[in-house]
Amino acid sequence: MEKKQFQTESKKLLDMMINSVYTHKEIFLREIISNASDAIDKRHFLSLTDQKYSLKSGSFEIFIAVDKDKRTITISDNGIGMDKDELENNLGTIAKSGSFDFKQDDEAKGKTDIIGQFGVGFYSAFMVADSITVNTKKVDSDKAYTWQSSGVDGFAIDETTKADIGTEIILHLRADSEDENYSEYLEEFRIRNLVSKYSNYIKYPIKMEVSKSRLKEGSKDEYEDYKEVDVLNSMTPLWNKSPKDIKKEEYSSFYKEKFYDFEDPLHTIHFSSDGMPSFKALMFIPSKAPFDYYSKTFEKGLELYSNGVLIMDKCADLLPDYFSFVKGVVDSPDLSLNISREMLQHNKQLKVIAGGLEKKIKNELTKLLESDRASYEKFYDAFGLQLKYGIYSTYGMNSETLKDLIMFTSSFEEKKVTLKEYVSRMKSDQKQIYYASGSSIDAVKMLPQAEAVKEKGLEVLYLTAEIDEFSIKALREYEGHEFLNVTDKSLDIDSKEDKEKLKEENEKSATLFDFMKKELGDKVDSVRFSSVLKNHPVCLSTEGSVSLEMENVLSSMPGNDNDVKAKAILEINLNHPIASKIKSLYETDKDKLAKYTKILYSQARLIGGMKIDNPSELSDLVCSLMAD
Ligand code: ADP
Repeated sequence: MEKKQFQTESKKLLDMMINSVYTHKEIFLREIISNASDAIDKRHFLSLTDQKYSLKSGSFEIFIAVDKDKRTITISDNGIGMDKDELENNLGTIAKSGSFDFKQDDEAKGKTDIIGQFGVGFYSAFMVADSITVNTKKVDSDKAYTWQSSGVDGFAIDETTKADIGTEIILHLRADSEDENYSEYLEEFRIRNLVSKYSNYIKYPIKMEVSKSRLKEGSKDEYEDYKEVDVLNSMTPLWNKSPKDIKKEEYSSFYKEKFYDFEDPLHTIHFSSDGMPSFKALMFIPSKAPFDYYSKTFEKGLELYSNGVLIMDKCADLLPDYFSFVKGVVDSPDLSLNISREMLQHNKQLKVIAGGLEKKIKNELTKLLESDRASYEKFYDAFGLQLKYGIYSTYGMNSETLKDLIMFTSSFEEKKVTLKEYVSRMKSDQKQIYYASGSSIDAVKMLPQAEAVKEKGLEVLYLTAEIDEFSIKALREYEGHEFLNVTDKSLDIDSKEDKEKLKEENEKSATLFDFMKKELGDKVDSVRFSSVLKNHPVCLSTEGSVSLEMENVLSSMPGNDNDVKAKAILEINLNHPIASKIKSLYETDKDKLAKYTKILYSQARLIGGMKIDNPSELSDLVCSLMAD
């Protein structure tokens, strides 16, 4: 028997396999089974046009046999087989050269990525086996060959006898060591578990003789063990069926079983794309957010298959963060299982698939919003925050995708509304989208400025989640309409006369305001009269891009030394008796005015739903005036 050397690159790969510390060595079985399935595909294809290639008896199948004494696992198929040249070329060389070029610069990372994500084909068996024998007989041939190798020192090919067409791969398992248990692969349950995890949807039956137990004939309580051939895989992936042939219950039980949920999915998305790469996707939106959804431990991703063979169980690249709640499966026959020159392009292909999925998810959510409002709001309660984070965290780059999916509670019937709905109700001369922000609906509803805006018949969005105001800042505008906080100085809802009167009053009281501003130090930027307020004596408004609510959120973040400050303005209701009171105090009793100023400032914070810095100071001030 002549001994041959592996090609240099194959040797490198083999060496990598033999010395692998990779923790998922179990993928070897997936690789061997998928080669077997490919070989059957090829023979099946030939048999479609020529009878002589069809099976004489039985059916296409993959058979796994275990011999515990010899420590071997044998995987046989009745596929196309290999002739001598093919044996030498296919198993002596990495099919596609150049596979290693890309990983020169990042050796360590390259290894885990290759093994983990794309498998490494036949050679991965060397992670668990110390010698491998391949017996094979090709269609149309009456000669059979055997290929044998114990690793890097090469391989030998010889003629052999084999009754049937097809290939049989015999793996002799390594001895167990302190760190690795290889014997477990000889256990029936382990093989069952590997097949159902990685090869469940291979379209040919994967059979194995398994031990079973039955009542002894004629006995009521005595059992006997016997062996029976069992099919280990379920073969037809649900996603390969046509959606019109699938019942809702089938989708639900598939989802619950696969993704460990007790509840039915809120929405199912099943579609295929004939583009390049082509793919099928079966995705689900859960009814509820998983308990760890908004924490760091949550991992997004879809299961990625190539023709029914699992490549990765959480492929994160397939989903943008803002759709991270989606669960599901993607199967693309155009993705190769094994390393190849196209390795890097896989990323490109994945991107194309991810783009298709994103578009589809968006369209489905839009449809749901339009056709089933109640379900959409349920979805939104569970995952809406994530959409707003999506806008904020990418500086509005994903606005186009997300702007019509987000919702806010609005003063209009106090219901959730979309921006589109808000804009459709805008008054003809209304330019801006008004919003009020605070910690709860009750708090923002009662903001003096919000009341004033509503009084004019204008709709106000209530922004109560911490992310809300940040996300609309990132959005900047919606269909040409800017967002305006009702507490912003530029709020302009007064009539012309009111404005003129106000301007005049403010000018007249400039020195009064200077005095008050001095009393408050850097707490406020300025003090002025306002005419928007109806009943409230005072309020705080802001100027510039940071509102008081945003300042609150930012300063409550851990590790924040809060240098982002809102520019606050203390506004005093011009039509409230307090206005004339402070004007007269300025002439008669500046000490008292100083106290009034501090109290008014604290009141403005309280009315705005904010905490006050120094409650006991406020209490003292109020008391000293009461005792006056
Ligand atoms: P890949 O499957 O990506 O080509 P592998 O290293 O897994 O890489 O296999 C190399 C080649 O060996 C296959 O392309 C195929 O031609 C051949 N081969 C492997 N297993 C079988 C088999 N069970 N039957 C027929 N040919 C096989």
